[in-house]
Amino acid sequence: MMSALSRSDFPLLAASPRLVYLDSAATTQKPRAVLDAIRDFYESDNANPHRGAYALSVRATQRYHDARARVAKFLGVSDTDCLIFTRGTTESLNLVAASWGRANVRAGDEIVVTGAEHHANFVPWQQLAIETGARFRICELTADGAIDLDRLRAMLGSKTKVVAFAHVSNVLGTIAPVREIVELAHGVGAIAVCDGAQAAPHLTVRFDASGVDFFAASGHKMLGPMGIGVLAGRRALLDAMPPFLTGGDMIEFVEDEHSTWNRLPHKFEAGTPNAAGAVGLAAAVGVLERVGMDAVRAHELALVGAAYRRLAAIDGVRIYGPGPEDRSGVLSFNVGDVHPHDLATILDSHHVCIRAGHHCAQPLMRRLGVSATARASFYVYNDDADIDALVNGVMAAREMFSRVGA
Ligand code: PLP
Repeated sequence: MMSALSRSDFPLLAASPRLVYLDSAATTQKPRAVLDAIRDFYESDNANPHRGAYALSVRATQRYHDARARVAKFLGVSDTDCLIFTRGTTESLNLVAASWGRANVRAGDEIVVTGAEHHANFVPWQQLAIETGARFRICELTADGAIDLDRLRAMLGSKTKVVAFAHVSNVLGTIAPVREIVELAHGVGAIAVCDGAQAAPHLTVRFDASGVDFFAASGHKMLGPMGIGVLAGRRALLDAMPPFLTGGDMIEFVEDEHSTWNRLPHKFEAGTPNAAGAVGLAAAVGVLERVGMDAVRAHELALVGAAYRRLAAIDGVRIYGPGPEDRSGVLSFNVGDVHPHDLATILDSHHVCIRAGHHCAQPLMRRLGVSATARASFYVYNDDADIDALVNGVMAAREMFSRVGA
């Protein structure tokens, strides 16, 4: 199986030929094109966007503006002003919970999340419920970790104000039926909030067509830099919302007693923006567009399918979530009684990087009846040799622990 991009496109991987990087769900490696774009911004166009009347600042502003347009197009957001740059998915979801939530959620209302959420799409809603006196409800999953639409339908009613869900689970790799969830939410007058952190890097996202009211994603999980992410929202909702952070750039007028707010997207971008990050994210989007999201998906499906079948054939390996045909490039598993942290350490000695722990999804771990899992996640630079290394490392760990146990 050919990789969608070569390791030589990624300076870190090129410099470490033995490294097998299988933790892209946590963060991806950065292609040269992204690193070059960031460097070029700082070397050629660095000034504070929106602040200066001189040519250099105008150029910086233009590059930031162009980056927004490019990322918006990639995510299918036609109203570019409704694509807000944030630090990442966590900040985007906190923005919605704090700003839309405080303005719209009252005691007695209901907020619904699923049992598969990352803490970033769980804790902000839980805290909003505690602050407002709303009821925080968790929709349980099916046996293989999918969102249970019948159960969700039964939970929703006139009190439901928000349905928040992950498009793709960072633990199980399950892909949510976005359209159905949106229809259920809208059917009771609730908004649908989509955590797209694991979707935007791996699937074609069309925000406008999806019907979701808010969509959040992180640049660093899609070949872009850390510290930049997006929130896409519907204009009517964003216009009506109070700001999240206040300060420079997001104001229209500041009187002694009160202030008025700038137009979108600036209302939600207080302070100096991460312009270089936005430029880097736009370059990442360019790389993904050149590969093509269909090719990205096909490559991952082939890898995750092969890894699934080979790991499942090892005695004592338990894989969580749906079958290999139906998941994104994430594989969470346990190996007998071997603690995932021990497994990760042994794999590291084989130069294989995987994640071990609760993956910021403790409520899901409780539902799976485990405290932790190992997780291998695949992306454009992985290939069959990486699966060989993973499987060999897992077998070595199993062997080592069976000897210790004997
Ligand atoms: N949601 C999901 C599904 C994730 O996988 C992650 C990161 O692992 C996040 C939210 C949080 O992303 P960030 O840490 O970039 O804000």
